[in-house]
Amino acid sequence: MDEHERRLLKEPFREIKVKVPVRMDDGSLEIFQGFRVQHNGARGPFKGGIRYSLHVNEAEVRALAEVMTWKTALVNIPFGGAKGGVTCDPLQLSKGELERLTRKFTAQIRHVLGPMRDIPAPDMGTNSQVMAWILDEYSSRQGYSPACVTGKPIELGGSLGRDRATGRGVVMILGEHMRDAGRSLQGLRVVIQGFGNVGSKVALLLADQGAEIVAVGDIFGAVAGHDGRGLPVRELADHVKRTGSVVGFADAEAIDNEALLFLECDVLVPAASECVLNEENADRVRAKVIAEAANLPTTPDADAMLARKRITVLPDILTNAGGVIVSYFEWVQNLQQKPWEESTVRKELQRRMLETYRDVTHLAAHQGVTLRRIAYSLAVERVLRAEEKRGA
Ligand code: NAD
Repeated sequence: MDEHERRLLKEPFREIKVKVPVRMDDGSLEIFQGFRVQHNGARGPFKGGIRYSLHVNEAEVRALAEVMTWKTALVNIPFGGAKGGVTCDPLQLSKGELERLTRKFTAQIRHVLGPMRDIPAPDMGTNSQVMAWILDEYSSRQGYSPACVTGKPIELGGSLGRDRATGRGVVMILGEHMRDAGRSLQGLRVVIQGFGNVGSKVALLLADQGAEIVAVGDIFGAVAGHDGRGLPVRELADHVKRTGSVVGFADAEAIDNEALLFLECDVLVPAASECVLNEENADRVRAKVIAEAANLPTTPDADAMLARKRITVLPDILTNAGGVIVSYFEWVQNLQQKPWEESTVRKELQRRMLETYRDVTHLAAHQGVTLRRIAYSLAVERVLRAEEKRGA
């Protein structure tokens, strides 16, 4: 790329920072900060999740918005990339406070949202209920607009299979990679960091296919199966539903949260936050494969270290794209007012995930470079071509 092209792709289209005042249950007024970054819309409306976390800041949202541009381009769905968030601790807010925060945030950024402008979805700290409030707040001013947000409850036009889509996509990519390596998911020893929407679904789907989930961690701590054996994942998921954390699960041993990343295993699945594999710790990773379910879990330095150690990294923009692919299906169903069967969602998801996987692995083998490098170059090329056709 020349300098002009590089700047064209690097600079976000629009960045918004808003004040989000919320009346708390005790009567006090709390001021939160909200962000929406629309990185690139050359290939279609902006698309990306809304995150509620104490770590949300401009730089994080900007980086995650850019990742969405490459992800939607790589899997070739007609969207651009965006991300948003509010700096808050959702676990400390009551349901009423969360609703007021979501409605106020939506009202502050409503002018840049819309089914043909920018379509939010769930991310860390948000869920289908938060999407329902966004839909209601947006529709109350603009008229009934189910396609203005994805990851909604089914009752409001959500897609069957959306809640499991990211996890299912991760398992599809991992299954295909193992098949290429002459193995199956049966008996695979897997460690998962993060047991939220994505991590828990990956654990349950992998366990269904005979993999052993040997250890799991969340923000509060980590647990491992007794004597290196797999955890009873369904019981663990019930425990997390009841208590909010994997910590204290009776049928397991407590282990150190950071040590989780360095356990010997076949596959490590980071499914929590960014930069957890970095130059300080990547040399201690003992997994053979890393399946990036989280966005940006590996820093560039760590990526190079892992490549030198011949650890295969299944990159985020490929591996966790199932969520945005089914979000696209949800948007299509909303625009056409025609719901799909879950079997159709699953079949179409599989077709798109595996087609992309084949393209990426074929080129990577041909050119002798990493999967991430090919995934990024395919995506960048598609966005650049769209920019050029538009006359940039
Ligand atoms: P979530 O809020 O449902 O769950 C996050 C999990 O990570 C929780 O178990 C939390 O305790 C844990 N966690 C957070 N910070 C941690 C830390 N520092 N150390 C250890 N554990 C930590 O979020 P989610 O929707 O499952 O998203 C997880 C990751 O997947 C994020 O990177 C997100 O951007 C990415 N992602 C999500 C989707 C989706 O459809 N939800 C799609 C693509 C990518």
